Amino acid sequence: MVTTHNLGFPRIGKKRQLKLALESYWQGQTSQSDLLASAVELRKSHWQLQSDLDFVPVGDFSLYDQVLDTSFLLGHIPSRVRDLPGTAIDNYFRVARGRSANERASCCVSAGEMTKWFDTNYHYIVPEFEVNTHFSVNAETLIHQIEEAHAQGRKTKPVIIGPLTYLRIGKSKHSTDKLDLLVPLIKAYKELLCALESTGIEWLQIDEPALVTELEPEWQAAAMEVYQALQGRSFKILVATYFGQLQGNLKLACELPIDGLHLDAINAKDEITDVAALLGTDKILSLGVINGRNIWINDLNTTLDWLEPLHQQLGERLWLAPSCSLLHVPVDLDSEQELDSDVKSWLCFAVQKLDELSTLALALNNGRSAAAAALASNRALIESRANSPRVHKPEVQNALSRINDSMAKRQSRYALRAVEQRQKLKLPLYPSTTIGSFPQTVAIRQSRRDFRQGKLSAQAYQLAMEEEVAHCIREQEALGLDVLVHGEPERNDMVEYFGEQLEGYTSSQFGWVQSYGSRCVKPPIIYGDISRPKPMTVAWASYAQSLTEKPMKGMLTGPVTILNWSFVRDDQSRAQTCLQLALAIREEVLDLEKAGIDIIQIDEAALREGLPLRKTQWQDYLNWAIRAFRITANGVGDATQIHTHMCYSDFNDIIGAIAEMDADVITIETSRSDMGLLDVFDEFHYPNQIGPGVYDIHSPNIPTVASIVALMEKAEQRIPAERLWINPDCGLKTRTWPEVIPALNNMLKARELLVAKHRQNETVQTE
Ligand code: GLN
Ligand code: ZN
Repeated sequence: MVTTHNLGFPRIGKKRQLKLALESYWQGQTSQSDLLASAVELRKSHWQLQSDLDFVPVGDFSLYDQVLDTSFLLGHIPSRVRDLPGTAIDNYFRVARGRSANERASCCVSAGEMTKWFDTNYHYIVPEFEVNTHFSVNAETLIHQIEEAHAQGRKTKPVIIGPLTYLRIGKSKHSTDKLDLLVPLIKAYKELLCALESTGIEWLQIDEPALVTELEPEWQAAAMEVYQALQGRSFKILVATYFGQLQGNLKLACELPIDGLHLDAINAKDEITDVAALLGTDKILSLGVINGRNIWINDLNTTLDWLEPLHQQLGERLWLAPSCSLLHVPVDLDSEQELDSDVKSWLCFAVQKLDELSTLALALNNGRSAAAAALASNRALIESRANSPRVHKPEVQNALSRINDSMAKRQSRYALRAVEQRQKLKLPLYPSTTIGSFPQTVAIRQSRRDFRQGKLSAQAYQLAMEEEVAHCIREQEALGLDVLVHGEPERNDMVEYFGEQLEGYTSSQFGWVQSYGSRCVKPPIIYGDISRPKPMTVAWASYAQSLTEKPMKGMLTGPVTILNWSFVRDDQSRAQTCLQLALAIREEVLDLEKAGIDIIQIDEAALREGLPLRKTQWQDYLNWAIRAFRITANGVGDATQIHTHMCYSDFNDIIGAIAEMDADVITIETSRSDMGLLDVFDEFHYPNQIGPGVYDIHSPNIPTVASIVALMEKAEQRIPAERLWINPDCGLKTRTWPEVIPALNNMLKARELLVAKHRQNETVQTE
């Protein structure tokens, strides 16, 4: 019999219950025990949904982030919160988001740095290794959850993040080698594993996605050292790798003294034979055969074709699971009422993926005939998708074949364009702007909901949004910003908004995926060839521009970000899909320009996270991604200023590619890393203009004038003042107006001080 299990289940709940529970708790409307009770309910229902599996995961649930949970589990808590009052949960949220429930700005601390979990759009809180880092294990919460599951009659396989990965993804606040911490970390994990023995578990899943990245020899040695030290417990250990191939770590992974290895059979399919051969015959091999990163049905018959011989070979030693945690897919397709029935029949969310797993297990255990009906209907659906005229559009294919190199080039080089743009735009020193969105207020969301539910007419909705745009403009004028934005009230999300208007795209109603903490995104779904039936943003931008004399930025999402934040087709390459998107957004750029919009921002917030996990594959990705951006942006005239925005705290290694995008202005996230990332500009002479984000919009804290001045001065040491802009580090949609106004006010005060200083310096120099 093959064993079925799951690596992790989405935590947010079918209807985003976790988000609601968190946000009402943070606002002080509910108590800590209410929050914990909601968490119990969610876990219970998730285990229920997974009850067909041989093992359900425990420890995959989290109130904010599983990496932060691991830090707390290991008693590895930043010193800045250690002595603050309140419970562990208060401290947990302080590290997560700068403040606990109901805390006022005066008692906040800086939130932990957030970054993407491998190549996903899930953000974790980066473990901080300090000079005096020490661990002090506290397994109570995890043990409690295991007992909770046992009390509900579940057979559990708890999951923790492994020491190698934890150390690898953490950040050392000083320059010493992180591996110096290996010994104390191993000691902590040993303690943790000892503590888990009391729960009577049979298996423990230890996630080591670091094994699919390039590991230096000393890190490979560390992996062996870790698992040698963790041997000999009363339960067995399954090390889970996912998101990619093991490559240079394959032999190592097979030789670890563990009881089982999980391999991502989607991305590392080519390695299965080698792993099966190298893995000791006393170890189980768990194959992640159902894609945990996409939403397409699996071609079950084809999967069985290659699984059956493996099953013959491995027998009981074969386990089946999704390729990775299902955290990255929506919860339940059955919630969807509005999806087109064809498209819906090709889709598969977390719950359905587990059904597929059961079908595969049934067919392996009892023969295909035992699952005949499910397999036949799966075959029919796979065929209908492959042949559907809704998917394959000859006119899009033709447009693609007409792309030529000149479409990717601006008319003149930056220096010449800059002169024209200066004359046209007449911006002051350190032009001030924002990244696009203003608060998505309750009223805005209510209007959108009413409109969707037919309670508000299209015209009334339009009027309500226009009023919001007008309000945003009044506020920006009152603040004295130089380059305005319309505020994006009409956009539910920067990608979904475009997905709703492009052909080849569809949206789900409840297809939410956690991005960070309580923030969820609903990636739209690309199912067919992409085209733009009509302009998508021009009317909003023109309306906004009609209300002000100041320049208005047209606001678009770039093709790479749309791609990276959508669920994409698995029947053509990402590069191909990206080009289709580029052509569609290029049409929009040109229409905005025609409508008299002189500044167009094309957000590529997600360009970096699309980088493959292995450096050897980076150049190929960057080649097609940057080309797609250039095709999108570079059809405009010299006097039109192209901006792009990126929210990363780390792009040192791709700065060359970013410069190649040839945007006139880039705005970037810097504040959380204290402008540390600007170090790259010491060596790399970035030729165009830059707006380093001067404060962290993820936190509700109001930045001080002094902190902004200090950050800009750091920037000025690397980039001449003439090429600097001043702006927050990302869009303001998640903030409230009472947070936004004082923050921007401080930003503008800082700007005044900087301008005054600059003038003074100039006079000193000329004297
Ligand atoms: N223009 C978008 C906004 O302001 C950019 C968001 C982002 O970079 N994530 O909301
Ligand atoms: Zn951003």
